Amino acid sequence: MIPGGTLPVDSAAPRAFDDPIYVTRPLLPDLQAYVEELQGIWDRRWLTNKGQVHDAFEQALCAYLRISHLSLVSSGTTALMLALRACELSGEVITTALTSPATVNAIRWCGLTPVFADVDPVFLTLDPTAVERAVTPQTAAILGVHVYGMPCDVEALQAIADRHGLRLIYDGAHAFGTAIGGVPVLEFGDATTLSFHATKLFSTAEGGAVAVRDAELKRRIDLLKNLGIQDEATVVLPGINGRMNELTAALGLAGLKLVEAERGRREAIANVYREGLRGIEGLECLDIPPLVRNSQQYFVVRLQAGVHSRDDLWEQLKTFNVFARRYFHPLCSNMLFYRKLPSANPANLLVASRATQEVLCLPLYGNLPLQDATRICEIVRHILRA
Ligand SMILES: *Cc1c(COP(=O)(O)O)cnc(C)c1O
Repeated sequence: MIPGGTLPVDSAAPRAFDDPIYVTRPLLPDLQAYVEELQGIWDRRWLTNKGQVHDAFEQALCAYLRISHLSLVSSGTTALMLALRACELSGEVITTALTSPATVNAIRWCGLTPVFADVDPVFLTLDPTAVERAVTPQTAAILGVHVYGMPCDVEALQAIADRHGLRLIYDGAHAFGTAIGGVPVLEFGDATTLSFHATKLFSTAEGGAVAVRDAELKRRIDLLKNLGIQDEATVVLPGINGRMNELTAALGLAGLKLVEAERGRREAIANVYREGLRGIEGLECLDIPPLVRNSQQYFVVRLQAGVHSRDDLWEQLKTFNVFARRYFHPLCSNMLFYRKLPSANPANLLVASRATQEVLCLPLYGNLPLQDATRICEIVRHILRA
């Protein structure tokens, strides 16, 4: 008997979390470790423009990422703009619509025309066949995105770039530490941009970098990020201010020591999710190919349209205090200012249009207790009645 006036309690319903669980939480060094890095800055009173910490951070990052050249900048968006500018492009840039507005806006900001090509149905990165079809005499470059840390088909894209004489740039905002068969993903293409925004695996609050293989390209980016100033009397390029300051670099230098352990903890959480969500009909975890070392930037599930409603799950998770994110929804091709491009036609982007309705990023950060990940799986099962 239910006592008068009270609602029947669904005993099977998992409990909501007391505090909100967000999709990510930034990795921060111990405050004391950061203060120690700051001490030198206070002593030297040198705050920006190729400071000592900036140079030390640049070197430390090159060593950690196992690359020879990298240029620190003020954000991932600036990194994209500088990489595009440094390649001296004009005309069209083929890219994906399943990305942050930063990718496509940077193309437009450089006076170039974005051309959308569809993505691969499994990996969700640019489909090389679609890219090849999108090439015109106006095409200047391909801008691939290693979305969710999943590497693009780097060999096929390079072959297309070589065949048509195009530049190949990657947005690696999700791919910090991603490697293919032991080779850092930053080794592919002419340039790869990184973002150190607070939501990224490795963060400096705001910040970014451009990784390049060619020393001359790094020299150009270094000039472009500093207003094109070569020396006190000589300005050689119409650059912008894209510099990283010393306080930001210090946060990076202190945080870099923690990133490997953070990645490991995220991997353990991802394994709990994979186990806990196994066998749910119409739900798939984005699988990382065996040869790829994933960055663990996001844990992505896909809810098969027609079986489950992704938006329903996303909304209902909030009632349990779990804030998942629909990266990337809406597609960039659906944004007001790109919608009229011929390549933005949904018929041209069938796979991306479906993916943007199906993807959901579950909370993933090192400090998320494993038992909370287990609880999130139970909540997902409860909502999906699986
Ligand atoms: C975060 C992000 C960016 C932009 O980086 P900011 O540092 O925020 O400017 C670019 N591309 C992708 C895919 C991103 O996720």
